[in-house]
Amino acid sequence: PQTPTYQVTDPVTGEVGQTFPFATDAEIEEAVAKSAAAFREWRDRPIEERAAVVKRVGELFAERATELGALITTEMGKRPAQAVGEAEFSGEIFGYYADNGPELLAPTPLPGHDSAYVERLPIGPIVGVMPWNYPYYQVARFAGPNLVAGNTVLLKHAENCPTSALAIAGIMRDAGVPDGVYVNLFATHEQVANMIADDRVQGVSVTGSERAGRAVAETAGRNLKKVVLELGGSDPYIILDSDDVGAAAKTAWVTRMENVGQACNSNKRMIVADGVYDEFVSQLIELASKTTPRQPGDDSPKSYSPMVSRAAAERLHEQVQDAVDKGATLHVGGELADGKSAYYSPAVLTGVTPEMRAYTEELFGPVAVVYQVGSDDEAVELANVVDYGLGGAVFSTDVDRARKVAGRLEVGMANVNTPAGEGADLPFGGTKRSGFGRELGPLGIEEFLNKRLFYVE
Ligand code: NAP
Repeated sequence: PQTPTYQVTDPVTGEVGQTFPFATDAEIEEAVAKSAAAFREWRDRPIEERAAVVKRVGELFAERATELGALITTEMGKRPAQAVGEAEFSGEIFGYYADNGPELLAPTPLPGHDSAYVERLPIGPIVGVMPWNYPYYQVARFAGPNLVAGNTVLLKHAENCPTSALAIAGIMRDAGVPDGVYVNLFATHEQVANMIADDRVQGVSVTGSERAGRAVAETAGRNLKKVVLELGGSDPYIILDSDDVGAAAKTAWVTRMENVGQACNSNKRMIVADGVYDEFVSQLIELASKTTPRQPGDDSPKSYSPMVSRAAAERLHEQVQDAVDKGATLHVGGELADGKSAYYSPAVLTGVTPEMRAYTEELFGPVAVVYQVGSDDEAVELANVVDYGLGGAVFSTDVDRARKVAGRLEVGMANVNTPAGEGADLPFGGTKRSGFGRELGPLGIEEFLNKRLFYVE
């Protein structure tokens, strides 16, 4: 169920701060009308002009990174340095599409014909439904390419990040994005459904949970609207062998604890070969036992931030408790703070078996689940056992062996000897229940376009 309003809740104390009312239906109607009218003008501008405006958006993200970072540290507890880094990276994404959009969107001649081309044309207003875990980056991934391509954006952000949502809208305005081309809306779920059903709206992109994806995709299907789904994941992270288990464990741990484990493509299941398993687990336990709760103002990487909300920490705790009740071993951590705070101490969990929720469900928080396997085949089978298929990584001193194993993963992003290849130019997205469609890269920018055949005889 939705909260009564869009509101900032301090994850450290559980105290409610700034609140913002839901949009009225009249405001939603006005926004859709504006977006549709603005589309006609925006679409007809030369792409270089649109790119110049988006370039300025990117610059403003960089110029305002410190204040943007502070907003999300307050909203969802993100470590200050990472919050600023996220704002800067978001600026780079806007900059990348400003610089490269014109080339990515150029018509491509079709071989075997004198004059046949595929053109890439914008289609109209697109609704973006975005999550709180990377409030700037997620919006940049969606809005950067679409704005350069000539679509207009109706943005519904998560209810717990209204101040960062407003800051993004402020940057758009200050960069010269015309009125109606980017509209922030504090919409209800029902209003989102109504917008998707509206004939003036041409598509919807969701980044969030499977539950949100199902609801939005159902409405989109009924109304014949294009949809892109960037949903959850339970990514495998396979260690076949290592000549430095300490370093391998440290990398795995830091990756898992990034954003307090609240990343869609976090290494949620570590699958470790017999030869290194014992040492790997003991290193993780040592790393976990050294962490302490991060207090406001503290930016030491050794401390851990609160999760986004008390409710999220409680949900994670139930999943871990379910595993422990059914016989899993909780080596360290897994303690829920007292009161209304959202701190959850980083945990290492082993002995997870198929009857436990943790075996198939996504653990969206600071829990390292480690499995032991006896062969490459066993690693692949376990990696693919979940219904998710976002990303995955395979590590070995023998690159060919790691490539072979990675080649068997049912995922949208397979990585070898690195946790994840990520960049403004690399496509991001999954398969199976992690969704469909891509963001970023040449594939991402094409999702909401009319790939028109242009044929001259
Ligand atoms: P969530 O509850 O699904 O929220 C995400 C967004 O969807 C919010 O804006 C939310 O709005 C909206 N939403 C939820 N139900 C909706 C409905 N029926 N109609 C319209 N909008 C709806 O997601 P979360 O649990 O906060 O976020 C974590 C999930 O996102 C995890 O599963 C994570 O793996 C996934 N994720 C995936 C990616 C990716 O790229 N694949 C990236 C980041 C996160 P309200 O706030 O108003 O409820």
